[in-house]
Amino acid sequence: MVDKPLKGAASSLGSGGGAAAAPAPETSGTEAAGAGKRRSDRVMLSIPIEVTATDLAGRRFTEPSRTEMVSRHGASIVLSKVVSLQQPIRLRRRALDEDVSGRILGQLGIRSDGPVYGVAFATDAPNFWGISFPPPASETDGLPRVLLMCSGCLRQRIFALNEIEFRVFETNQRLSCPCETCDKMTAWTPVPDGSSGAVAIPQKGPQDRQFQRTKVKMMACIQEQGSEADAVQVLDVSRGGISFLSKRAYEKDGWINVAVPYTPGTANIFVAGMIARKQAAEDGYYEYGVKYVKG
Ligand SMILES: [Zn+2]
Repeated sequence: MVDKPLKGAASSLGSGGGAAAAPAPETSGTEAAGAGKRRSDRVMLSIPIEVTATDLAGRRFTEPSRTEMVSRHGASIVLSKVVSLQQPIRLRRRALDEDVSGRILGQLGIRSDGPVYGVAFATDAPNFWGISFPPPASETDGLPRVLLMCSGCLRQRIFALNEIEFRVFETNQRLSCPCETCDKMTAWTPVPDGSSGAVAIPQKGPQDRQFQRTKVKMMACIQEQGSEADAVQVLDVSRGGISFLSKRAYEKDGWINVAVPYTPGTANIFVAGMIARKQAAEDGYYEYGVKYVKG
């Protein structure tokens, strides 16, 4: 199961991104209009970049910046000032001597160091982040995702985990897989990401601790627009969704982003989902069922 998505990802990189993928950002408005609906891998990862944009007075400026989230199609980035949405933006990775042009889709929020913007690449740039993303709409759709790093060559790649791989990863926080660069089996481990605010795991009472010891404790992280991220206990994982426990009240049919598996302090992958089921559970908890939303 692991082999297939990897080969697919590698070959699509080798062929320069593939003809099918290239026209999408140019011709369709779907990404701008429904960025939240688009089903693609979003990795919470802080990568230093240099940004050239235009301020509201029409002045072009270049400044060091960082990403909060990266995807196959773009990123969310933090800038020091409010910028013109009409003007193109240029992202540069100094370390790789790579740059790409893009457009600002809109403001996503504000941080202590400035506003956050969603940016879409203007052209296909599959190698810009140095991450191999699995091809979209493939057989890996609906499987949990995790960004891992080869312990040999430090190459980063997104894995779509089937049930067995998922359990192995949850238990060991690593997977053993062949690396094309190292040309052998290597250990793949989560990519540390200190700067994207790690969510504290909720501390539970003594009875709960005993319960957790006897069960594999799986964590997920729920993000809802306008709220702080919520680290939750996973009850079950299936292709296409998860169920989890939380004390927080989410609306049925509400939209969320979910990362499962979730490892605090690493680059977690969030996908869009909808609360399909909500049920009161013990001790003030709710049991929720989430369906991933396909783009
Ligand atoms: Zn390697």
